[in-house]
Amino acid sequence: MYIMPDEKVAKRIARRQLIPMFRNTPKVAEYLSPRADGVTTLHVNFTNGMDLMMAWASSAAAMASESIRYLFFDEPGKYPEWSGKEADPFSLAEQRQNRYENTSKLMYFSTPNLQDDPFDMLLKTEPDEVRYYHARCPVCNELQVMENHNIHAAGCKDHREIRRKQLARYSCVKCKMDWDDYMRNKAVSAGRWKAVHSVERPVAVAFRGLASWYSPFVSLSTGLAEFFKSKDDPNKLQAYYTQHRCEAWAERVENKIESELLEHKNDIPPGIVPEWAVALTCGIDTQKIGFWFVVRAWGDDLTSHLVQYGYLSSFEDVEATLFSTTYQVEKSGGTMGIWRAAIDTGGGQGATEEETRTEEVYEFITRMRYKYGEKVLYGIKGASRPQFTRVSPEKQVESKPTLLARQRWRGIVTIRQLDTYQLKSLLHWRIGRKEKPVDENGDEMPSESQRFYLHSETGMDYARQFLAEELHKDRRGRRYWKQVGRDNHLLDAEVYAAACADSSWQPNLSGLARHLNSVKTTAPPESDTDGGSQNQCGGWIPKRPRAGSSWVNR
Ligand SMILES: [Zn+2]
Repeated sequence: MYIMPDEKVAKRIARRQLIPMFRNTPKVAEYLSPRADGVTTLHVNFTNGMDLMMAWASSAAAMASESIRYLFFDEPGKYPEWSGKEADPFSLAEQRQNRYENTSKLMYFSTPNLQDDPFDMLLKTEPDEVRYYHARCPVCNELQVMENHNIHAAGCKDHREIRRKQLARYSCVKCKMDWDDYMRNKAVSAGRWKAVHSVERPVAVAFRGLASWYSPFVSLSTGLAEFFKSKDDPNKLQAYYTQHRCEAWAERVENKIESELLEHKNDIPPGIVPEWAVALTCGIDTQKIGFWFVVRAWGDDLTSHLVQYGYLSSFEDVEATLFSTTYQVEKSGGTMGIWRAAIDTGGGQGATEEETRTEEVYEFITRMRYKYGEKVLYGIKGASRPQFTRVSPEKQVESKPTLLARQRWRGIVTIRQLDTYQLKSLLHWRIGRKEKPVDENGDEMPSESQRFYLHSETGMDYARQFLAEELHKDRRGRRYWKQVGRDNHLLDAEVYAAACADSSWQPNLSGLARHLNSVKTTAPPESDTDGGSQNQCGGWIPKRPRAGSSWVNR
């Protein structure tokens, strides 16, 4: 019996992969049943008495009367959750093997997902023996597990160049010969599975997955380019780990304490913008009364600095912060206004009070658009389920027939949905980014991108709110953020400010930084005659660069 996650997958795999493979394998094809109903997507009969049954997680129970000698579980991590009423498909299916005590076989195969999820635990705890694939060097014959740190591109770190010029090579651990893709293929086909610690007559054996650099279908350059492309983004890096390295991903979020977070304070006082900043974003968390907000400055590598945080009691205060406040830039006469702000529209369903608050926010966004004509303020809300991107494309506010008032905002107010789970993980990952990282030999390495700073007077109140949620795991190994502190509003505000600068919010901040750099190099700055008064507030993509002002800030 071959058990897949659901019926659709079961039928598709049978039709597109298994049956064609049987038909194309002469030895097996000989035994395929000649009867018209002998080979279907749900079962394959062989003339020697063997039957292959396809099943899926929820249908395993229906097979109660069958005895099964060989059981295959395909992608068990993707099986849907089963209710407590029925037994799980694993034990149900395994009971089918009772008749074959000494000759049964049980196979699980899965792509890796998260560290310590059920499948990863199975791999860690069950096997008597773990086998790794060893490639054999075509030059010196050394058998070796291919590790990713032996793949290099002669110092090139540009993913486009690596892929275009096919620069990646694998260095043999013994003779240091650089294998290209052709030699790699030879090395892999001459290799074999080998246990790290072999035991006599193992009962359970794990074959650790083959990383992409073993595959004749994937160039070494593709894998290495993918690494350089994803190394500064935890979500992409996760995909690289599971898809290319074939390893479970360890989410490196440790629950921190307030004093550790406050170590990220630098000596820039509140209200002052660091000189490396290219733009300011603002996140506003709407309360029943008033608003919590943060203003964050961003550099072109998405390193950021908390300029200001606090509580605003009215829409008028929000307006003043967004459109009339200018922040002084450190070590220069220039000032900077908010480039982009995101306000939580709530959008709760049902509760009358919340509906009214949402209406008020829509109305405020509309009024700001008319008054200032600039797009600075945007409506956002948290998505209830995972999204493909951290920030969704903008959507029209939905109008409900029961809510005539909402019709008024159609075409004016748009909102973006945020994957707050991903954004919170990203914030915590940024907290771990280092200014002066050291490698294994204790040598200093270049600063990491996306570092996270706080102004010099950031207090315990901020730290408590920021750390008011912790990463927890449910019993299926899935991660979620759980509120553990009383107030998490500043965390939400930081999430919104980060969303404003996120690569998935188009046009994004990196594009803006590139634009500023090109303006800076092509047009020499003019004198500061019109610097002080005009357009100091709000959306500030410059018509032209001005010396002493904050548009081009380096
Ligand atoms: Zn060698």
